[in-house]
Amino acid sequence: MLLPKGYRLTAITDWISLTLMLSAALAFARNAFGSNHRQRLVWILLGVGYAVEAGGQVLWMHWDLVVKKTPAMSLGDACIFLAWTAVIMGFALRPHVEPTPQHQRLGTFDLLLLLLAGLYLYLFLVIPWQYLAPEPQTYGPAYMFLALAEDVILLSIVALGWRHSSGRWRHFYALLTGIVVFDTIMEYIVDTIPNAVAFSGGWYDGATAAGIAGMTLAALMAYRLEPVSEREDPDSERYWRLASRLAAPFTLILPLLAAWSFHDRSVPVPVWQFRVFLSLAAVVVFAAVGIVKQARLETELANANRELLDASLTDLLTGVRNRRFFTSSIETDVQQVLRSFGGYSPTDVRNRDLVFYLIDIDHFKKVNDQFGHKIGDQVLAEVARRINSAARLSDAVIRWGGEEFLLLSRYTDRKEAHILANRILDSVGSKPYHVEASKADLRVTCSLGWAVFPWTESDPKLVSHDQILVLADFALYQAKGSGRNRAVGLLPAGETVRAGTAAPTIYINGIPASPVTTPGPSLEPITAPGPTTPSANTIAASAT
Ligand code: GH3
Ligand code: MG
Ligand code: MG
Repeated sequence: MLLPKGYRLTAITDWISLTLMLSAALAFARNAFGSNHRQRLVWILLGVGYAVEAGGQVLWMHWDLVVKKTPAMSLGDACIFLAWTAVIMGFALRPHVEPTPQHQRLGTFDLLLLLLAGLYLYLFLVIPWQYLAPEPQTYGPAYMFLALAEDVILLSIVALGWRHSSGRWRHFYALLTGIVVFDTIMEYIVDTIPNAVAFSGGWYDGATAAGIAGMTLAALMAYRLEPVSEREDPDSERYWRLASRLAAPFTLILPLLAAWSFHDRSVPVPVWQFRVFLSLAAVVVFAAVGIVKQARLETELANANRELLDASLTDLLTGVRNRRFFTSSIETDVQQVLRSFGGYSPTDVRNRDLVFYLIDIDHFKKVNDQFGHKIGDQVLAEVARRINSAARLSDAVIRWGGEEFLLLSRYTDRKEAHILANRILDSVGSKPYHVEASKADLRVTCSLGWAVFPWTESDPKLVSHDQILVLADFALYQAKGSGRNRAVGLLPAGETVRAGTAAPTIYINGIPASPVTTPGPSLEPITAPGPTTPSANTIAASAT
């Protein structure tokens, strides 16, 4: 303001602008180093944006200070355009939210398409008049049109960020919105008011400098600012849908632009050739990005479907399978077993049975009553985990109801069914349960009833799997009735297991059966840590 218009003023303001651009580039680069989120990409883009802008400034200074004559069309313009494209891309990736992996993978494609569309328009509208058929009077308005379009897009993005963020992020976006509004107004004024205003060192430079300094300030504000998870951001879904909807029309418009540029012979021949070639190349590039995106989309969909299916078959609290899983898979298991017992006489007759183990926690109501439902839930989940650890990979553990589980043991032998029963009793009952919220460890046991499918090898279809479940339930009832913390299994009358003792025949729904009883682990009393007495906080859940 104090220096007279002239070389020294121009030099000083040029250097100040360059310094401020570099300071913004460095501040964003520092943010990139300070972040380990996807945000890092945002900061890198912004840092690169300002570095490219600084590159443009160097070119500008070369003309201003060395050649001392500024050109109407310069490579520096392209630098500024590209710099703002990188800045827009950076903010469009939304530093304030950490996207879900799905949006991260898919949304980036839409933004990439939009970025390519911007570059295409620049190459189509501006570049021909700068290099192929130089024409400043066409170049100038075309460049300004795109530059203003960039301002409007950037303004929309930061204003959206302002509206949809909170806390320090909101201040960050408010500052950005202010800067972009200010810059856009300045650009408009400089462009419409006679050239005299926009010389180096004019008041316009002060305004530009303030804008760039504001960017450094914004970068400093956002240093180490944690993004919010996209799951907590209700607007994310809409944002990415909008990006996708904006990207799609460009893909459709491109072939039309290609056709139009082919027909438009009013422009000089090199421009015509360039535009036709450019549009066709763009069609190919857009199609390629579209195809890759489509492939990604299909993979995402397949993954999402798999996850949904898995979730629909899994119990939320315990993580084991649910009854829906049982309903959807039991028929396959049954058919498999029946096939293996089919007409021919296989050499390996072992490991063809399907054993149904019904497991019910003993006196679980007491756990709830004494420690509350929440701890009850934790114990329930731990019991499920222990049952799972006792099972083999080929077995299925299903939450059958409340605190009751069904373990389906596949490819097994009835003569060894009691061994798994024993393992489950041991796994569930032998070690105390440590519950964080409680001062004492708990003792929990379970009772178990099992029955085997097919009931008889000679006639595998005689007793259905539904009836086998009834038998297992009956056996469980027996285990509860005879003292809990034990397993009772049922085999057809007369069949015994190696370790079992021959039992009297009982009739269940008219089916003759021999029970096999396996005792659970013997329980030592456990001592509660801390000042409370063990008896007050320890549940001896079993009668043993
Ligand atoms: P028993 O030895 O005869 O099995 O005694 P019990 O108290 O365990 O009786 P029962 O098997 O009928 O237990 C049902 C209780 O399990 C009722 C309910 O309070 C509890 N329960 C069922 N589902 C849940 C659950 O999801 N969370 C919690 N915390 N408790 C549950
Ligand atoms: Mg129970
Ligand atoms: Mg029960």
